Amino acid sequence: MDTISVAEARKSEAVGRVVQLRGWVRTRRDSKGGFSFIELNDGSCQGNVQIVAPGELPNYDAVVKHLLTGASVSITGEVKASPAKGQATEVHATAITQLGDAPAETYPLQKKGHTFEFLRTIAHLRPRTNTFGALARLRHRVSKTIHDFFDEQGFYYIHTPIITASDCEGAGALFRVTTLDLDKLPLTPAKSVDYDQDFFGKPAFLTVSGQLQVESFACSLGKVYTFGPTFRAENSNTPRHLAEFWMVEPEMAFFDLTDNMNLAEAFLKRIIRDALDKCPEDMAFFGERIDKTLLPRLHSVLEKPFLRVSYTEAVAILEQSGKTWEYPVGWGRDLQSEHERFLTEQHFQSPVILTDYPRTLKPFYMKVNDDGKTVRAMDVLVPGVGEIIGGSQREERADVLEQRMREQGIDPTAYQWYLDLRRFGTVPHSGFGLGLERILLFLSGMANIRDVIPFPRTPGNAEF
Ligand code: ATP
Ligand code: MN
Repeated sequence: MDTISVAEARKSEAVGRVVQLRGWVRTRRDSKGGFSFIELNDGSCQGNVQIVAPGELPNYDAVVKHLLTGASVSITGEVKASPAKGQATEVHATAITQLGDAPAETYPLQKKGHTFEFLRTIAHLRPRTNTFGALARLRHRVSKTIHDFFDEQGFYYIHTPIITASDCEGAGALFRVTTLDLDKLPLTPAKSVDYDQDFFGKPAFLTVSGQLQVESFACSLGKVYTFGPTFRAENSNTPRHLAEFWMVEPEMAFFDLTDNMNLAEAFLKRIIRDALDKCPEDMAFFGERIDKTLLPRLHSVLEKPFLRVSYTEAVAILEQSGKTWEYPVGWGRDLQSEHERFLTEQHFQSPVILTDYPRTLKPFYMKVNDDGKTVRAMDVLVPGVGEIIGGSQREERADVLEQRMREQGIDPTAYQWYLDLRRFGTVPHSGFGLGLERILLFLSGMANIRDVIPFPRTPGNAEF
């Protein structure tokens, strides 16, 4: 006898098979006819499979009739075509074993709806709900698509380090990695911390981005990407920022900014298409239960080409909008979420790629334009989320790059290896970073980034 998943048991091809199923009871309903219906879920898919438990089961009165929401069970039975609407199959049980109990007085996931805030306090149990099961499956699917997309296009997957001794962008607060005893710090004669005695012999941090390291592989293997956890110790308590998040960063030799934008657009569209095609049940759930405007929005994004607009034009649009902003607008000021969302949601009503930002707003590695004032940056903005991708063409001229470091207060001696990429066989190249949790917000319609990662880390919170 085969053990199969609920997903398999729900398909009509399973009819006639005698199988074992294992999972968790969602609900039990006792019929007057002396038998029970159990809705069984094992997380393999959104839907449950209906188990028909006959009164003749030897443990019917002692066990089956007492099965509660959340109890774990093993069931043997035959898959049959279901006479009921909305399900192709049901399983007629010949044996039911309870593996674990879930007392109603203490098991927090009873049938009634819970707020997402409450579910965050039980993040270890929330994957048993429809919403968080769907999010976990979607997260898997998007990760798979990322690897598929790049593999099909001839990219190589590079593992960049998590621990780094260079503050990648000179921006973004870093988490320190140390083995020094913070209560008894070794000091130099000048009374500053003696990092010679630390594990790496110098200050070390958790990475904010794998970009600089992956550039070294782009400048040798051509098309590469890194995909892994990144860390930012910024104290930004927003629905769009995490202290630990996953980022995918492709980097391509010989790509200019236009090639980079074309790749970013094709990449986002592929992720959306795969989610719709390969997670239809979960995506329908999000469209029905999380955000009614979600599916029309995703389809419209698939159909339209992304608009491409310079930062300078965008600022003019914002200035002429007649709106009052919480944060002021003006050439040379960074765009805030409210501005980005106005542009993509109201003004253009479409994804938009903003390019050519002032050099003062962007990191040293972005290529300086001929105007001397702007850099070849691109931010992709999408409705509902705002910035989802940040990228650029990279500065390939060693002298300009070094000057940009000095301009931003970064000591070039720490980046000699990075400058070497420009000293020896330099090539034009480009890349971008996509936050995995930002694309999951966009795909699911969920409002808070804490709910699209299994165990969120945010200021003041590292539970579980
Ligand atoms: P933002 O302006 O939204 O704070 P950023 O400009 O600091 O983002 P980048 O350094 O450009 O972000 O990072 C590339 C991508 O990584 C962003 O476009 C976004 O998708 C994602 N990202 C950045 N910071 C975070 C964060 N704290 N939590 C989750 N995702 C993030
Ligand atoms: Mn950015």
